[in-house]
Amino acid sequence: MNYEVIINVHSIIPVSCINGPGKRMVVFFQGCNNKCPGCFNPDTHAFVKKTGYSPKSLIGKYFRAGIEGLTVSGGEPFYQRRGLLQLLISAREDYGLSTVVYTGFSYERLSASPPARAILKYTDVLVDGRFEIAGKEPTMLARGSTNQRFHFLSDKYTEADFVMDGKIEMIIAPDGTITQTGFSKVA
Ligand code: SF4
Repeated sequence: MNYEVIINVHSIIPVSCINGPGKRMVVFFQGCNNKCPGCFNPDTHAFVKKTGYSPKSLIGKYFRAGIEGLTVSGGEPFYQRRGLLQLLISAREDYGLSTVVYTGFSYERLSASPPARAILKYTDVLVDGRFEIAGKEPTMLARGSTNQRFHFLSDKYTEADFVMDGKIEMIIAPDGTITQTGFSKVA
């Protein structure tokens, strides 16, 4: 593959400690039509143009020393399959990062699709399933609801690595902007 696509990105957190194992860059894709009641990221739903990045330029710009992986969330990452694939390839091959992808699609459905299977080859852990507000995850596991499943597609991690130190992370930027992330919300 020798062409690059542009990913429509809602937002990026260069260093998060709560979106998977260790310190991770988190990329939120824009666009999702699942409309899960109680979704933590409703601003990511609209299929509108946000910020466009080529996968390599995105990681190059936001990579920080000491991070061990990339987490992709949204929005629905699999609606931008070519960009997702290139992002994961660059993360793994150019930066040696582990890869975690959150999706509303089931693993079985993705596995039945050749383009999605190509993406799964570059995914260490897939967390699948829509958010179900009636089954909110009560523990520190890094998922929104208990129906969501961890699929360990390489031997890099186990479920124990997804037990976080908290459910909410508040990140204060140098300009005072506060970003909230994680698997619960401050009302
Ligand atoms: S699939 Fe994810 S981003 Fe989309 S509505 Fe459901 S929880 Fe929100």
